[in-house]
Amino acid sequence: MTGYLEEGLASVINQCRSPMISFCQRLVRTPSLPGEEGDVAESVRAEMELLGYDEVWVDDWGNVVGLVRGRGTGRSLMFNGHMDHVDPGEVKDWPYAPYSGEIHRGRLWGRGAADMKGPLAAMIYAGGVLAREAIHPPGDLYVAAVVQEEVGGLGTQKLVQSLSPEIAVVGEATGNQLARGHRGRIELVVRVRGKSVHASVPRQGVNPHAVLARFIQRLETLALAQDETFGHSTVAPTVYLTDQRSSNVVPGEARVHLDWRNVPGETREDVIAQLQPVLDACLAEVEGSHGELLVHTRELRTYTGRIEAFPAVFPSYGLDADHPLVLKGQQVLARVLSRPVDIVTWDFATDGGHLMEAGVPTIGFGPAEADRVHTVEESVAVEMLVEGLVGYTALALELGRGH
Ligand SMILES: [Zn+2]
Repeated sequence: MTGYLEEGLASVINQCRSPMISFCQRLVRTPSLPGEEGDVAESVRAEMELLGYDEVWVDDWGNVVGLVRGRGTGRSLMFNGHMDHVDPGEVKDWPYAPYSGEIHRGRLWGRGAADMKGPLAAMIYAGGVLAREAIHPPGDLYVAAVVQEEVGGLGTQKLVQSLSPEIAVVGEATGNQLARGHRGRIELVVRVRGKSVHASVPRQGVNPHAVLARFIQRLETLALAQDETFGHSTVAPTVYLTDQRSSNVVPGEARVHLDWRNVPGETREDVIAQLQPVLDACLAEVEGSHGELLVHTRELRTYTGRIEAFPAVFPSYGLDADHPLVLKGQQVLARVLSRPVDIVTWDFATDGGHLMEAGVPTIGFGPAEADRVHTVEESVAVEMLVEGLVGYTALALELGRGH
C-alpha cells in the first residue's frame, strides 16, 4: 500500500498505526460540540507537540495549528480538519455508545469518528511521520484543526485571514478518493408579521401562516440554477417557528428557515434576487402582512470566549477535473496507494468553500465514508484510516513540489 514511499518511511508509518488509532479513540471519547472544542483542542495540541512538530499554536478562535517546516523550495500546504461534530441525538439509537470510541468489526465507532476525528487523526499523524523523521516537505506544512465547522465554518474563515497557504487539502469524507468541489449552503430566514388575535376571531387578525403557506408552496415552482457537474441548486424549508406557544392564539409572527444548496457560480445575491419577488407577491395577497427575507446570521461563541455574528453561508466551489492540483493529487495518491483514485464531488458543503474564497486552491481527501456521516451508524474502518495516513504522508511530500 505504500507504493513508492521509501522502505524506511513505510516502516515508520507502520509503527504509527496503533498510536494513531488510540489517539483517534481519545478524540472520539472527548465530546466537542461547536463552541465546546476546548478539551479536544488540548489533546490535539499535546499530540502535535509529542510528535515533534516544529511549532504548535492556538489562535484567538481556538483553532490549533501545527507547523512542519518546509525546505522552502515548494509551495506551502494546509491540511484542514474540524474538531467539532454534530449532536449525537438519542443514545439508545446507537449500536455502540456515541462517545465510546470502541472498535468492533474492524471499525472505530462514535460520533465524530468519520466526521472528522478519524481523518483529523490521520492528517496529524502524517505531519508527525515527517516531524519524527526530520523530513522537510517542499514547502511549509500546516496541519489545522479548526473549530465550529458544523455551524458554518467560523474557524477556517477566521484562520485564513492570518494564515494563507498556497494549497490545501480538506479531510471531509471521500472514502479515500479525491474531491474537487461541492455545492454551497446558504441558510435563509423568511420572517412574516401579521396581527395576533384570539383564535376564535381570526378575521380580526392577520395570520402570518397564510403568507408562509403560499410562499412554501411556490418554492416548488422556482427554476433552479443548473450545473453540468453538480446538478441543480435545491431549496428545502426546514425549521418553522412562531412567536406563540398557545394553540388558541393567532400568532403575530412566523418564520421559516430555508436550506439552499447553490451550485458554483450562484451567489447569495442571486438567491435573494430570485426569492424576494416571490415573497413580495405572497405578502401582497394577504392584506396587512409584512415580511423580510434575510441570510440567517448566528451569534457564535468560541470556547476561547470570542463572540461573532456569523452568516450561515458555505461558499460553493469546483476545481476543474483537469486542474493541475487535482491531477497531481490523483497521481500521487494512485501511485502510493497502488490503486486507481476517482475524482469525485462532495454532496455536502465543507470548509473548502472558505479556503477557495480566500484564494487557496483546495482538494479533498478524507479517510471515511460519506454515508456514515451525521448518522447513528457513524464509524470509520481502521484500515481506511491507515490508508489515509499513507495518502496524507504522500500528499505532504509531493503536493508542494514545484511552482
Ligand atoms: Zn465534517
